[in-house]
Amino acid sequence: MENSPIDFGPVAIASPLPRRSRQAKVVWGSRVVTVGGDAPVRVQSMTNTDTVDAIGTAIQVKELAQAGSEFVRITVNTPEAAAAVPYIREQLDRMGENVPLVGDFHYNGHRLLTEFPDCAQALSKYRINPGNVGKGDKRDKQFGQMIEAAMRWNKAVRIGVNWGSLDQELLAELMDTNSRRSNPWEARQVMYEALITSAIESARRAEAMGMDGNQIILSCKVSGVQDLISVYRELARRCDYALHLGLTEAGMGTKGTVASAAALSVLLQEGIGDTIRVSLTPQPGEARTQEVVVASEILQALGMRVFVPSVTACPGCGRTTSTTFQDLAKQIDDFLRAQMPVWRVRYPGVESLRVAVMGCIVNGPGESKHADIGISLPGTGEAPAAPVFIDGEKAMTLRGDDIANEFHRIVEQYIEKRFGAGVSAA
Ligand code: SF4
Repeated sequence: MENSPIDFGPVAIASPLPRRSRQAKVVWGSRVVTVGGDAPVRVQSMTNTDTVDAIGTAIQVKELAQAGSEFVRITVNTPEAAAAVPYIREQLDRMGENVPLVGDFHYNGHRLLTEFPDCAQALSKYRINPGNVGKGDKRDKQFGQMIEAAMRWNKAVRIGVNWGSLDQELLAELMDTNSRRSNPWEARQVMYEALITSAIESARRAEAMGMDGNQIILSCKVSGVQDLISVYRELARRCDYALHLGLTEAGMGTKGTVASAAALSVLLQEGIGDTIRVSLTPQPGEARTQEVVVASEILQALGMRVFVPSVTACPGCGRTTSTTFQDLAKQIDDFLRAQMPVWRVRYPGVESLRVAVMGCIVNGPGESKHADIGISLPGTGEAPAAPVFIDGEKAMTLRGDDIANEFHRIVEQYIEKRFGAGVSAA
């Protein structure tokens, strides 16, 4: 009997499937942001300021954009909010922030977009919820008024269905049909059908009015992970509109983060989803930008986008009884992230930097060599020395009480040397 190992062939390399949607365009002035097709999956976010507070809203929009949000949605719920929108746009332009603004409309969007043309013009995209555009014979008319405004001002729309505000007439109709089936579907399947039908029929109605299908983005948001996966798989199978993806009302903290990452990752890996939002409820005192950080990290972890330098850090164990390495890993991570708004311009390509901060000699040197720049701190009982590796080679050893600050400086010098040439090139 032979001892040679069985040749199974090379292990298949995992990567997200190609996306299946057509490309949509969101236009703002001379700027065009593409969504869908082979465009990068975009990160979106939403403010939680009162839109009437134009300055406060503009400041939060800028914070979200600087954190990496490529579209920012604002609530447009009253005449006062609609009147504030052009001033918000103006403030952003003055601050040099050209992120596209998306208006979130419910119930009265048809009136606001008609009566406040400056608002309609200042926005780059309108979010229309087919469940909240009106009832009975008013529904089609009011939906039509919003689509007409979008066509008049050359704006994209997101037809965003949400199961918390699903079109009840459509749901009742589908439930009625289901009750006549010899083998009725589960109630949840009827709900899925209502969500998908509402989105696609609304899009077709907009196209029938003359709207370009390349200015339509669809979403069907639900709050359960398996529900979201079920709905989007079917939505992507039935149409090729660009899709906005998000788990609605994801919740707070770890729960919201994990649920969003679980749902979005499955779909993105299958090539479904062209823009994403993580609908986190901010914890008291937590920055609104956390939802942008999580969305970006999901795309970066899947290898679909690169937004910020990555910091590899070990979890620590019985070999690290002090918090030195945890503190250093956090400091470096916070520092790199905080610098990104400036570095993006000054150091093109810096987002691809990989830094390692490791707790001891077991995996420290090996992991540090895999990074662009890494440090292996001394674990409990090890000699108080921290070798630093640059581009896979040991470059120096740090000793003493100032290791953290010294490593900080070394990282900055490395970035300046490797990416600083971009200053003259820019
Ligand atoms: S690198 Fe060292 S400190 Fe970090 S988890 Fe591994 S053994 Fe523990």
